[in-house]
Amino acid sequence: MAERDTSRALVYAAENQWSAALDRGGVIDFFGSRLTLPKQQYFETVELMQNYCDDVLGLDRIVASFPNTGSVLVRARAGQAKAHYEFENRTIAVPLSGTAGVPGWACCEAVLLHELAHHLLFVVADPATSAHAFHGGRFTTTMCQLVCEVLGFEAALVLQGAFQGAGVTVGSYVD
Ligand SMILES: [Zn+2]
Repeated sequence: MAERDTSRALVYAAENQWSAALDRGGVIDFFGSRLTLPKQQYFETVELMQNYCDDVLGLDRIVASFPNTGSVLVRARAGQAKAHYEFENRTIAVPLSGTAGVPGWACCEAVLLHELAHHLLFVVADPATSAHAFHGGRFTTTMCQLVCEVLGFEAALVLQGAFQGAGVTVGSYVD
């Protein structure tokens, strides 16, 4: 059995704070340092989210770190519930929930990168040891690594700070 996923709520809270900073983008003060955050993208359709995930999984350094990852499928899910990753069929299910022409709150890079981190970890997990908590240290480290590759080092640094501020462990993710 998997150990209890005790970090889950803390991880979500930290990522929500970080995602809000990415909605604004631009220069922020981070413990006395000036960092520049990119403004995250929102997507209006499943196809655009699929393209984004395909592009991320095809990045040279992601392929090098996570060989044999394979593709992920993005699908819409009903309602306002959170996005989730379905391990059985390697699918990211995202609530669209936007009105016409306005992307839903979950159709953004922060959410897709979270679910892609689950995908990358699931694929490399040794079945014998895959009982790690879904949102434990391996998850947060993978998420920071992914963010570093896709959104840049400063975005990863702010995410790492949010995790640590919430009391969540993050391992080394920069080589
Ligand atoms: Zn998750």
